[in-house]
Amino acid sequence: MNISSRPFGVTADGERVTLYRLENSTGSIIELLDYGCTIRSLLVANREGRLTDVVLGYDTLREYEKNDGYLGAVVGRCANRIGGARFSLGGKEYHLAKNDGDNHLHGGLVGFDKRVWSAKINENGVVFSRTSSDGEEGYPSQLNIQVVYTFTDDNCLTIDYRATGDGDTIVNLTNHAYFALSGRGNVLLDELCVYANSFLENDAHCLPTGTILSAKGTPFDFSLPKLIGRDIGTANEQLDNAHGYDTNYLVGQSGKMKPVATLYSDRTGILMKVSTTQTGLQVYTANFLKDRAGKNGSHFGCRDAVCLETQLYPDAMAHPDWSSPVLKAGETYAHTTVYAFSLACK
Ligand code: BGC
Repeated sequence: MNISSRPFGVTADGERVTLYRLENSTGSIIELLDYGCTIRSLLVANREGRLTDVVLGYDTLREYEKNDGYLGAVVGRCANRIGGARFSLGGKEYHLAKNDGDNHLHGGLVGFDKRVWSAKINENGVVFSRTSSDGEEGYPSQLNIQVVYTFTDDNCLTIDYRATGDGDTIVNLTNHAYFALSGRGNVLLDELCVYANSFLENDAHCLPTGTILSAKGTPFDFSLPKLIGRDIGTANEQLDNAHGYDTNYLVGQSGKMKPVATLYSDRTGILMKVSTTQTGLQVYTANFLKDRAGKNGSHFGCRDAVCLETQLYPDAMAHPDWSSPVLKAGETYAHTTVYAFSLACK
């Protein structure tokens, strides 16, 4: 692995940001930023052998700082929505920052995506860490987080998340990369398969109602590879509310590594397989992504990419039967997700 680094600018608060570039023996490249623990670029060869950047990102730090959308970042302390921006833990009610109407989304106003992390290069990747203080965005207890990105010669990107607190708290981490395997937008033409038969019903604010629905035969059925655009325009309350897919699928047992999804672009031949130890997979078709200039003269907007976010079911504190985001003092939060890239033989 060839790993190098270079300055990527200075934040408005005067913090230096560094870009880490990892190139494996096949010439595939990943670029990571310590700002937001962000995947900025991921270049793999298409079927003609040309390197194709399969994630959305920006040219400058300023754009990462001022824009929303969480491009490529690690989101936390709790990914996804927390209804009413509050939860009870140990008999006490906690109030979190509201940044999505009345709700809390992806860690709040200054979540993990807007922080500069510490970084250390290792043999095949970069170890990012940061300490989230007691009370940050309303969360109780200090939390030490470590996120390790490992890139291997077989074009697998593994993300290992670990966290420990000095008191009880809640944690649900994920990466918010926008995948565009065609390298040039319109994700409706790409094929998605999700290894799940059911998903969480959402209310009008994209919060789970608590009802688990069967995907079979519905527009949400991706149990066999299907073009993302095939059913996205079907008249359906949840698709209408979210302007597309913004859906949490039940992908299996917590703590067990299993394949959960594949994404394929026939325009490039690039296939991505996702495996995770998590129980939920949020499929988000970039419904609210604003039109913007991206890296290297690119341009992107709504539905030009898809996020496949491995995480616990959202708002789980309001649903005591679901896998809990509670992390007790002394325990370790652990979650691993692998994104494996190859060329499909079709
Ligand atoms: C959520 C969307 C949200 C988006 C913001 C996604 O992970 O599921 O509801 O609008 O993040 O970028």
